[in-house]
Amino acid sequence: MSFASLKLSSHLLNSLEKHGFKKPYPIQEQAIPAILDGKDVLGLAQTGSGKTASYVLPVLMQLEKQAPTRNRHINVLVMVPTRELAIQVENVFSQFGADVPFPFKSLAVFGGVSINPQMKAMSNVNVLVATPGRLLELSESNALHFSSVSTLILDEADKLLNLGFKAEMDTVFALLPRKRQNLLFSATLSPDVKSMQQVLLNNPVTITIAPEQERTELINQMGYYVKDEKKGPLLRYLIKEKAMEQVLVFTSSVYQADLVADKLQKNGISARAIHSKKSQGNRTETLHYFKQGEITVLVATDLLSRGIDIEFLPYVINYELPRSPKDFVHRIGRTGRAENPGEAITFVTEEGAHHFKVIQKKMKAVVTMIDSENLDLSGF
Ligand code: AMP
Repeated sequence: MSFASLKLSSHLLNSLEKHGFKKPYPIQEQAIPAILDGKDVLGLAQTGSGKTASYVLPVLMQLEKQAPTRNRHINVLVMVPTRELAIQVENVFSQFGADVPFPFKSLAVFGGVSINPQMKAMSNVNVLVATPGRLLELSESNALHFSSVSTLILDEADKLLNLGFKAEMDTVFALLPRKRQNLLFSATLSPDVKSMQQVLLNNPVTITIAPEQERTELINQMGYYVKDEKKGPLLRYLIKEKAMEQVLVFTSSVYQADLVADKLQKNGISARAIHSKKSQGNRTETLHYFKQGEITVLVATDLLSRGIDIEFLPYVINYELPRSPKDFVHRIGRTGRAENPGEAITFVTEEGAHHFKVIQKKMKAVVTMIDSENLDLSGF
């Protein structure tokens, strides 16, 4: 199937070509026609499946047919659980919105940063991507109006509900016009999402895309038995041996993330840590530098293991194991996306060996193990 057969405009087809999207991913094949048809959609798909473009493209098509935005009246509201996802989704809207033949403006708003610039930027916004708390603050300040909203999108709905946003979301729903199209995307159909779906969606088209667990075969996995005190040298050894230029390293605590990044810096390897204790500005800047290739190593806690898409990430290293197999899959899912296989390396200590067996069993994968005792780590 081609994008052209999905009845997208020539502007968008050119834009897709420009951005190297050659053919639609399965979620796009199914979601785009349903959305263009005005249906409500329940998309069960993870980040990495191409779900963002599956709603961005038809939404842009629909906007073309709508009256121009009145000041501070948004047409499309996308709700997301995290600031990072807000920025990422807005980027996709800007990317494709740059090529549409009508005035288009998208904006991401989220908490943790000053509200004033966001209030000022609200004029003539067609598509607003927002975390729930900040959205309500803006609404309370009369910085935006919901009466023209024709499409509501919840992205990562399972996480939105997990993070305890339910009350805020209910407040938002009450402010929206009754007649609207609802699109709900979630990695899982958790009981919360199920009940939300019943309230929100009207006779939806349900689209299910195989979860990452079933796609881990795209990823080349390797494990290293290593003593705790040798993890630093092993990390530096691997970065050098494999000539890694971009690697995401996961630790299980903020403290450890800072420590690992510092140690790498001291050894002349450009590295930065990203986690919940960093300011929003710092997180955005770090991600930007990493995506640009200006930092070799990004050390992250599980905060980053969901939701964030970094294109062509060749290496992920689990410096420490996560507690749950699910988090493990999310972490390594940062590599080996779609048609772009990567390598996931896991450090396993003696104490972690059993836990890693459990993870492999859940993943239905057997990871080849190397004993780092057999490597010459001297000088690292
Ligand atoms: P998402 O699941 O929306 O985060 O998308 C995952 C990644 O796939 C992003 O880097 C997109 O730019 C990319 N992508 C989405 N759809 C396509 C496509 N049809 N062809 C090529 N890349 C795509």
